[in-house]
Amino acid sequence: MKISIVTLGCKVNKYESDAIMHSLSEKGYEVFDGLREADLYIINTCAVTGEAEKKSRQAIARCRHLNKNAKILVCGCASQKNSLQFEEKGVDFIGGTARKNFIAQYVDLIACGESFEKQNLSALPLEYEKEDFATQSRVRAYIKIQDGCNNFCSYCIIPYLRGRSRSRELDDILNEVKALPNEVREIVLTGINVTDYKISGKSGLILLLSELDKFGKRIRLSSLEETIVDEEFVKALASLKNFCPFFHLSLQSGSAKVLKDMNRKYSPQDFEKSVNLIRKYFPTAGITTDVIVGFPTETDDLFEESMHFIEKIGFSGLHIFQYSKRDGTVASKLKDLSSQLKKQRAKRLEELDKRLRKAFIAQNKGGKVLVEEKEGDFYVGYSENYIKCYIDSDQDITNQVIEVEFEKPYLEGEKVKIKQN
Ligand code: SF4
Repeated sequence: MKISIVTLGCKVNKYESDAIMHSLSEKGYEVFDGLREADLYIINTCAVTGEAEKKSRQAIARCRHLNKNAKILVCGCASQKNSLQFEEKGVDFIGGTARKNFIAQYVDLIACGESFEKQNLSALPLEYEKEDFATQSRVRAYIKIQDGCNNFCSYCIIPYLRGRSRSRELDDILNEVKALPNEVREIVLTGINVTDYKISGKSGLILLLSELDKFGKRIRLSSLEETIVDEEFVKALASLKNFCPFFHLSLQSGSAKVLKDMNRKYSPQDFEKSVNLIRKYFPTAGITTDVIVGFPTETDDLFEESMHFIEKIGFSGLHIFQYSKRDGTVASKLKDLSSQLKKQRAKRLEELDKRLRKAFIAQNKGGKVLVEEKEGDFYVGYSENYIKCYIDSDQDITNQVIEVEFEKPYLEGEKVKIKQN
């Protein structure tokens, strides 16, 4: 049986899809990552915005277009939030955010031709379920260390869908990394709120990182909350041999008023202090962020304040989201701004993003690039501070760490191209 896995949303979903793929391959199924003609489709859905949810539903039609007789199984945040929207589309199985590690068993049932009632969504487990997640062999592996979130930002539905924060056992994580093939040269720690990673109830991220550092693989963090950044934390990161100086620090808004309304736990001043600390220890750090535009209390003036702050920080890139009302959240009771206004603001931020990305690249003189694959005529990979580089080389340099100079890069949009002899 051919199985195609379609993943929407964040890196945690990606990690979990990889794990599902792995368990299905182990059972001897032919599994594809992405939309391909198949007998069974698994759609790992996302509900972070209304748009993501819509795309999750649309994925069903795209699968049916490829094979109208295929079985379809959905799981993830959108089906956890509202299973009815998928039931109406007549899918064969609906799961939620938990127990994705049992999907392979459901697939076995389908393969045996057994019919089963649409399963009820499983309750969110309060304890982290041990997942036998061994990530597929690639240059980079995502390692899930945590799930859930306790922050309850006023706009966010995720804590309601993924439950409270729970951390994976240290030994489980170390064993997963130990089992990775040698070709995996870089690991990225993912979770819904990595900042909240705990060992025996205490903040455990630094201890985890120092243990992982011993494997000699490059280490990245996927996304961090500003609240974890203090001198002790950054100093500890700087003492690691393999830590990549790249930080995705979620800002969401540069306006103190909007941050308060979002129930974020810091002010723009706190955020700026954290960025300065990072730059003190990592002068060439890449620092990207998430920004939500059009939050209900974001007036024109507050948006300008936010733009000004974002420019002042000089991020190396922005991930821009238009505010999307999520029923059940505190902010959903506030009056929504018009979609036209949100679009206009997003466009202004996109222009700023382009300028910031170029300025960041121009400040850099070079770096060590882990080459991942060939794209057209170029070998591509990322520098330690996450600049995507296009390397022109006569030799196959895949899976090597190449030291490159950007002295004469020629920029094509945001592309850094390098000639390597
Ligand atoms: S930190 Fe806030 S935005 Fe992030 S998952 Fe938790 S509640 Fe959502």
